[in-house]
Amino acid sequence: MQKVSDSNIAKSRHCSCTGSILRYLKMALSAQKKPILHHICVYVIITQAKLLQKANVRIAIVGAGLSGLACCYHLQKNSSANITLFDHNGVAGGASGIAAGLIHPYQGPKLKLNFMGFEAEQEAKLLFEKASTSELQRGILRPAMTDEQMEHFSALSQKEKENEWLKESEALQKAPFLTPRPALFIPRGQAICTKTYLENLWKVCEKKGAKLFIQKIEDRSALQEFDKIIYATGAYINDLIKEKPLPISRLKGQTLELFLPEQFEVTPFAIHASTYLVFSQKRCMVGATFERKFLDYLPTKEAELEIRKKLHEFAPSLSNLQLASHKAELRAYTQDKMPKIFKLSEKEWVMTALGSKGLLYHALVAKLLVSALLADDPSLIPAKFSSIESAS
Ligand SMILES: Cc1cc2nc3c(=O)[nH]c(=O)nc-3n(C[C@H](O)[C@H](O)[C@H](O)COP(=O)(O)OP(=O)(O)OC[C@H]3O[C@@H](n4cnc5c(N)ncnc54)[C@H](O)[C@@H]3O)c2cc1C
Repeated sequence: MQKVSDSNIAKSRHCSCTGSILRYLKMALSAQKKPILHHICVYVIITQAKLLQKANVRIAIVGAGLSGLACCYHLQKNSSANITLFDHNGVAGGASGIAAGLIHPYQGPKLKLNFMGFEAEQEAKLLFEKASTSELQRGILRPAMTDEQMEHFSALSQKEKENEWLKESEALQKAPFLTPRPALFIPRGQAICTKTYLENLWKVCEKKGAKLFIQKIEDRSALQEFDKIIYATGAYINDLIKEKPLPISRLKGQTLELFLPEQFEVTPFAIHASTYLVFSQKRCMVGATFERKFLDYLPTKEAELEIRKKLHEFAPSLSNLQLASHKAELRAYTQDKMPKIFKLSEKEWVMTALGSKGLLYHALVAKLLVSALLADDPSLIPAKFSSIESAS
């Protein structure tokens, strides 16, 4: 592999000098709000990105899940860097490979709008399009399982009129196999097959020259010869940055795939009640668990029983279906449950902690990381995505 040349080093010095100018201009911009300064800022960012292009830099990305592939896509779109990915499990070999594929801009039991939720959703949908991946299911039906949920869900339908509040009878008309409950229908929600999407996205990146090595990076020193490195290793990030581990918690998630009976009529939308229920041809995916305590990363019988019990609460006729597959993986969360991107050292960057919102955030957050990396300016990252200390 090629060593970093002297001319690259000279260019990177030039970059950090322009970085100071950029920071100064940004401060001036926020103080005076002069449009002309905005144009200068944009010019400097573009100039820096071009410097990186001319240098023909080599960029390594560790991890080929939602984070790593979205970074690869945005790097290729905005620079001519040579990109090499490393993943010992191949494309979508981690949590991304078992995600149910649900995406919508809201969070938690109260369905609050996520920070930059609509922007993130738009960026994700743009990437789905680039990877020619259409949704498996359009819309998400959310039966209200508690009085509190009824209150929050109906309030959202008042606030954002596109979301439809359904009486018990209306919900049953849409999905006759459900236990009668009022429900919220979120038409903009969708479910995609995450694995297929990432395989398609990888084809787009590979066509543009990215290389993938099926290899575990045991130590960061193995990547010394690259000019820039992005660690996108999901819940395994602390294995690589042992000297300054991030305050993340890892939650094991298990999911079941069940065979559907021949005569079962699947709904065109996904369902999310006590668990989620995503239909594909002749099967449904149900899950997931959120396990704080676990001995290993393998599927367990206890989790299968827990998921089936939850499924029984809102779709009893499906809870005893034959098991097609059972998978487990880890997700990483920070305390504020926001994805994190930051500069780790002069040439190293990190993207992690996508939690349960990998599909929603991967494209937007990767795009922000790539802009910051190309401009060599971490201050371009909104604090919510970079302030890891505050989320200890
Ligand atoms: C059961 C379950 C269901 C989920 N459902 C949804 C859902 O419906 N919607 C949603 O938005 N999100 C969902 N999620 C969350 C989503 O899967 C994650 O947020 C997302 O996959 C994280 O992506 P990532 O690329 O950061 O990490 P990962 O997908 O875990 O990718 C990290 C990659 O890095 C590789 N790697 C790690 N260490 C090394 C190393 N040292 N060297 C080389 N390679 C390495 C791994 O093999 C892996 O492929 C779900 C998660 C689980 C567990």
